[in-house]
This record gives sequence, C-alpha cells and structure tokens, in this order.
Amino acid sequence: MEEYIFETATEEETKRLASKLATLLRPNDVITLEGDLGAGKTTFTKGLGAGLGVTRTINSPTFTIVKEYQGEIPLYHMDVYRLENSEEDIGFDEYFNGDGITVVEWAHFIEEFLPDERLAIQMKRIDETKRKIIFQPVGHYFHSVCKELY
Ligand code: ADP
Ligand code: MG
Repeated sequence: MEEYIFETATEEETKRLASKLATLLRPNDVITLEGDLGAGKTTFTKGLGAGLGVTRTINSPTFTIVKEYQGEIPLYHMDVYRLENSEEDIGFDEYFNGDGITVVEWAHFIEEFLPDERLAIQMKRIDETKRKIIFQPVGHYFHSVCKELY
C-alpha cells in the first residue's frame, strides 16, 4: 500500500496541512483518522474545517457521534469510538453521500460501513509537539489527491 508521510512540529502545522488537503477535496469524499487519544485527530479536523470555510468552532463530537458544520462544502465530523462493540448503522451512507466531506475518527470501529474509496490517515505522537501523519489513499482518485499535496 502506498503511503505519503508527513511530519509536523506544531499544532498549527497540522492544521495547515489539513487545510491544504481540504482545498483538494470534493463533495462525498471520506477521510478516516486513526491514532491514539491526543494524537491530533480532532486538531486535524479543525484545520480541515477551516479549509472548507467552516466558521463555527469544531469540537470533539464524542457525545453525539456526528456533528454537522456548514462551509463552502458541509463537514460531517464523526467520532465513532463509542460504537466499538456495536454493529449499529446510524445512517452512515446518508452522510457519505450527503454532498459534504465526512471525517471519521476511530474509523476502524465501523470498517464494514466505510466506502471503498477513501483517504485513510494515521496519526502518531512522536513527542509533546511532533506528529507523524501517514496518508494511505484507497482508490485511484485519492492517490492523485495525495500526489498533489506531497
Ligand atoms: P485526538 O482527537 O486524536 O484525541 P486532539 O486533536 O483532541 O487529539 O488532541 C491533540 C492534542 O495535541 C491537542 O492538545 C494539541 O494542541 C496537541 N498537539 C501538540 N502538537 C501537535 C501537533 N503537531 N499536531 C496536532 N496536535 C498537536
Ligand atoms: Mg478526537
């Protein structure tokens, strides 16, 4: 599997990378985010939202599973951590095909519902402020998005 590896030294750099990615995305794109608590998944999503023109503050949706934000393209921000031992389909397809960008934190918990084409991102904490961010495109289109960003 092809990988595109980035390193950021600050929270701002992570947001900038995500914001740049946002400008390359199209409606119905799905981004999955994996990484331990504190790795920077929500921080990345904040940057992505900024790049989509979301003006409201983006916070972790842990207690609601999904939050929707209006931007130039809508953002659907999911944190599916609480679905770990559940087979529940909360209507994922309606979000994935809802003409917005969907970001899914802890996506492996809903593996069976994920679309075939997506951009998988893994975040690793190196130290207090350094993060390794690994992009794994699934499908031809996301390969070209990654090449453009790299
Ligand atoms: P997660 O959603 O993965 O649990 P958060 O984004 O909520 O993680 O938290 C990441 C924390 O790490 C934030 O407090 C953020 O300020 C901090 N941080 C420090 N350096 C970075 C960096 N380079 N990229 C992202 N977050 C960083
Ligand atoms: Mg989070």
